[in-house]
Amino acid sequence: MFALPRLLIPVESTPGETRVAATPDTVKKFISLGCSVLVERGAGTPSGYLDEAYAEQGADLIELGDTSAWNQADVLLCVQTPSATTLARLHQGALVVGLLSPYANEELTATLKRSGLSAMALELLPRISRAQSADALSSQANIAGYKSVLLASAALDRYFPMLMTAAGTVQPAKVVILGAGVAGLQAVATARRLGAVVYVSDIRPAVKEQVESLGARFIEPPEMDEKPSESGGYAKQASDAFLAAQRQQLSDQLAEADVAICTAQVPGRRAPRLISEDMLDRMRPGAVVVDLAVAQGGNCADTVPGQTVDRKGVKLIGGNDLPCSVPNHASALYARNLVALLEPTLKDGVLSLDPEDELIVGCLIAQDGSIRRGDVLTPGSN
Ligand code: NAD
Repeated sequence: MFALPRLLIPVESTPGETRVAATPDTVKKFISLGCSVLVERGAGTPSGYLDEAYAEQGADLIELGDTSAWNQADVLLCVQTPSATTLARLHQGALVVGLLSPYANEELTATLKRSGLSAMALELLPRISRAQSADALSSQANIAGYKSVLLASAALDRYFPMLMTAAGTVQPAKVVILGAGVAGLQAVATARRLGAVVYVSDIRPAVKEQVESLGARFIEPPEMDEKPSESGGYAKQASDAFLAAQRQQLSDQLAEADVAICTAQVPGRRAPRLISEDMLDRMRPGAVVVDLAVAQGGNCADTVPGQTVDRKGVKLIGGNDLPCSVPNHASALYARNLVALLEPTLKDGVLSLDPEDELIVGCLIAQDGSIRRGDVLTPGSN
């Protein structure tokens, strides 16, 4: 519990991270809820939010790495986890909130224990309707889905829409989207807006209607006795036999595709491998694959995080950090997610976490240095 909590917004230290955890608007909101806000100088610069704008809304600007200011902070609002040395500047019992990559994260576990910290990992927010406004995975996945299609259209050697010109008719691009969660559905909508013909594969039956309502065609999952299940809105891991049947089914679709957008994921697991080397061999030179699951092992063979690989003329784009390429809106939405998460915990200027609240139970991975979600943080337990 913190009375008149002091929030700290750091400069993000992960290479390539351009987002920030608070905007001047959300600073103003937190101050109206009884908090004070410290912002490291330059924290919002990469995403277009300048120091002066934070100060105008009442934030106190601090120098980068000001150890005593860090030690006074009660709540660190971050995008990605700072280093262990940086977190050690916080006082015992301080709360860290962010996208902390909790799955099987031994280093994070050791840091939280050693420094006696509390931590909320946004990845673990339960997917219930009350949590939608705080759902950072969704706000960021939406951006990734949108940007993946723009990257593909820029890299493709063809038009996306059908065009009738004096020189003849151009057929629309064929786009295959693997996985129709938040990122996949936004990719469908964006590709349709650009005029492509879109096919979608997912293993959750509920998706079919959503895909069709966006004007795309659904590729039914392979007919097998054992079907992958789902829990809490997420797919569960499919068996090797099911994935082999799915690859076989997708191979012909991809041989005719101009673009494949890969978004299939299973939380806490390696991403399902849906495009093999053999399948890539059948794609036409000039085709483009964007793999949003590349950091989780990739849906597609040979994709590399953050790089574009030319494989026999097929361009493979490793799209692991696409929200960072739209940093102004990505930060604005992320920052609002944090307000939505913390506002209910702030009453009369006091921040307290209700241990019975389903949202808190889900994402509070540690409290005062004791681990509460060992089921997620310990390797091999999920
Ligand atoms: P995700 O990123 O974990 O997975 C993306 C998609 O990959 C999912 O649709 C999943 O079914 C699919 N997938 C997994 N294995 C596959 C395979 N072998 N082949 C093809 N597709 C495969 O999921 P997400 O986008 O974060 O969310 C999934 C769903 O959760 C959403 O569509 C929505 O229904 C639900 N959701 C609910 C809330 C809420 O109520 N607060 C918030 C966000 C999402």
